[in-house]
Amino acid sequence: MRANVRAYAAFGAPVAAVVKNNAYGWGVARVVREIDDLIESYFVADEAEFWTLRMCTRRPIRLLAPAAPQHIAEICARGGIPNIAARDGVAAAAAFAATAGRAVTIRVGIIDAAGWSGIAAADAAAFGAMCAGLGVRVELWTHITSAARAAAAVQTFERGVGAFRAARADVAGIDIASTAWAPARLPANRVRIGAGIFGARLGGNAVTTCAIRVDAPAVAWFAPGAIGWAGYGDTAVPPGRGVVVLRCGYGDGLPKKLAGDDDILSVGMQYTSRLADRPMNEYAFIDDRSDLDALAHRLHVEPHELITGLAQ
Ligand SMILES: *Cc1c(COP(=O)(O)O)cnc(C)c1O
Repeated sequence: MRANVRAYAAFGAPVAAVVKNNAYGWGVARVVREIDDLIESYFVADEAEFWTLRMCTRRPIRLLAPAAPQHIAEICARGGIPNIAARDGVAAAAAFAATAGRAVTIRVGIIDAAGWSGIAAADAAAFGAMCAGLGVRVELWTHITSAARAAAAVQTFERGVGAFRAARADVAGIDIASTAWAPARLPANRVRIGAGIFGARLGGNAVTTCAIRVDAPAVAWFAPGAIGWAGYGDTAVPPGRGVVVLRCGYGDGLPKKLAGDDDILSVGMQYTSRLADRPMNEYAFIDDRSDLDALAHRLHVEPHELITGLAQ
């Protein structure tokens, strides 16, 4: 994970670690412990995740979803950078800035942002004017969610940024790039990396390594020729081949569709059978030689779904 963070840092922009959903299921405290000294800040989805993460790190924490206006002062006071998509949120941030006697930073997403947290580019001029002169510094961001619309989304976003600046809002920064877009030199002064920390590349050219390891103990072995079938169905064992039974299955988060991959015959709830002509102690389903993107592609899932599923 540390090497992967460094691979994104090599693109030249500060790396913010996206640790929403309990760090993609892998345990936010544990992930923070590994990478805290290497990253610039964190992103979480909502207020609940903010308070959990606040206990684990002193670094700034940015929120993706809008926070409740009555909680904005408390979030800002505790080093949070709230996302705001409505007038009452801006008023709450301005009130906090006035009370605290210092500028306060907020975030405003411009759609595509993420579906649940942005304003329309057409509203950027009015929203920017509302933010101007209040001691409120604004980070503008969007989230590119479609390769086909990427160019148009960036253009729309840049129009929105221009409108904020024309309205004399204090634009403190802009960020667009997630794992998929980090290497594309999109206009950005920060990259938001989630899946990339685990080693997924999502089509980008960062040189990362799979940071996930899933291995299982072998609990039984059948010598070549001893059994002709495997699993709960009628999966045939090729003549003359041995079979190992591994204590890990879909009940542990192992995708059932791994059957057929790398000599795996069948994946049951707790046990998986795999061709093995000699006894073995354990088998690594996923390790640092794995390619998460290729594996996700073969399993017909998103790399994010694979990463969070394996966290079990
Ligand atoms: C989840 C998320 C990210 C991180 O996405 P990855 O593809 O995992 O890098 C970045 N930005 C936003 C808005 C997100 O919701």
